[in-house]
Amino acid sequence: MTTPFLTVTPVRVATLFVGEEERMPLYVHLIEHPEGRVLVDTGLTELHPAVADMDPQLEPLTEKGIDLSGITAVVNTHLHFDHCGGNHLFAGTPVYVQRQELEDARTQDDYTIREWVDAPGVSYTDVDGEYELLPGIRLVPAPGHTRGSQIVVIETGDGPVVIAGDTAVWAGELDEPATDGQRLIRALEPHRVWLAHADEPWPAAR
Ligand SMILES: [Zn+2]
Repeated sequence: MTTPFLTVTPVRVATLFVGEEERMPLYVHLIEHPEGRVLVDTGLTELHPAVADMDPQLEPLTEKGIDLSGITAVVNTHLHFDHCGGNHLFAGTPVYVQRQELEDARTQDDYTIREWVDAPGVSYTDVDGEYELLPGIRLVPAPGHTRGSQIVVIETGDGPVVIAGDTAVWAGELDEPATDGQRLIRALEPHRVWLAHADEPWPAAR
């Protein structure tokens, strides 16, 4: 099998404050594939009183020089507010999420900002288990951060590249995996793992 030419580009969309002086970046990831352009998570596009304590500093996705109309599919690793806040930008584009995650986001209180999940025009394709999105791009359930979380596994000539969402919030969590999702990522022996809240991929030096 030939490996299609794929690139993954991290796009920083916000900075969040978590605790006293601590800042946490927020990234979404764009996959360029010969058969489509896939955006993994959609970040934040506006402020909301429910998350005012994080004082989000936004870097709008609409001002990053990305042709959003050319996105052919969106994936949500999970539906916490900082990962689905831009879903409304993709009305009419299929949004892939695990069925469990969608159910939890719609039914559990204080799970996310629900009006961002079901913003006007957003249409989900719910997936139950592993799913091949495009040749060489798989969605794989990775429970831990939430029970319905999924990761995106991209086959490349160097080995798998993983877009992990918050399956690991800090890179150190992959050094000592403690959840099913983290152990799954390690078992894939990935060449590189992109996290939503880290500037550099794991492992740092390769
Ligand atoms: Zn997050």
